[in-house]
Amino acid sequence: MVNGLSISGVSKQFTNPQGEVITALSNVDLDIAPGSFISLIGPSGCGKSTLLRLIAGLIQPDSGTLTLDGAPITKPGSDRGFMFQDHTLFPWLTIYDNIAFGLRAQGVFQEKEASVKEFIDLVGLTGFEKYYPHQLSGGMCQRASLARALVGHPKVLLLDEPLGALDAFTRMNIQDEILRIWKEHSMTMIMVTHDVDEAVYLSS
Ligand code: ADP
Ligand code: MG
Repeated sequence: MVNGLSISGVSKQFTNPQGEVITALSNVDLDIAPGSFISLIGPSGCGKSTLLRLIAGLIQPDSGTLTLDGAPITKPGSDRGFMFQDHTLFPWLTIYDNIAFGLRAQGVFQEKEASVKEFIDLVGLTGFEKYYPHQLSGGMCQRASLARALVGHPKVLLLDEPLGALDAFTRMNIQDEILRIWKEHSMTMIMVTHDVDEAVYLSS
């Protein structure tokens, strides 16, 4: 497949602290069409996060290939955004500066400044730009990390149990926000979740 994400024959092993070799992924093939919402469900330790980290380009496969729209994935890039279970916001930066961080790091802040406002608004954090992460609830921090992952307009958003640490009501609210963003921005979303209902509700 040229368009979309193509994972072919991907294997990945790790060595644990005892020196034993752990096979996290063995010969994985998966084609994901552009604009799909895919959920990965499986027991703890079966390699879900490893697969997302490979797609993100944070780690390299031992064998096999990953391509996005035909181009090999070899390192992280602004075409892929990542949202983790813990919000991983920088505690010393305001919400605005956290969301703008990636754009500044890439040297594209000046031209894409309007995007920061757009995504702050999209996740419902307008008015909280000057707050620091510790001054916001867990749900609001997850909204900020969603905006941070989206601000570079990635083709693919990777979500690793993004709502697992939230209470049920916040979780339902953010599920609907993710769904709305997915529909409005027609991006590919790949989510790891333990919650089968959540997977059924969100996934195409
Ligand atoms: P999941 O996200 O499905 O719970 P992971 O992809 O995190 O699983 O991990 C798959 C397996 O690989 C687990 O056995 C885990 O302990 C191991 N593993 C993952 N990353 C590393 C690493 N950096 N070093 C050693 N072992 C790892
Ligand atoms: Mg995991």
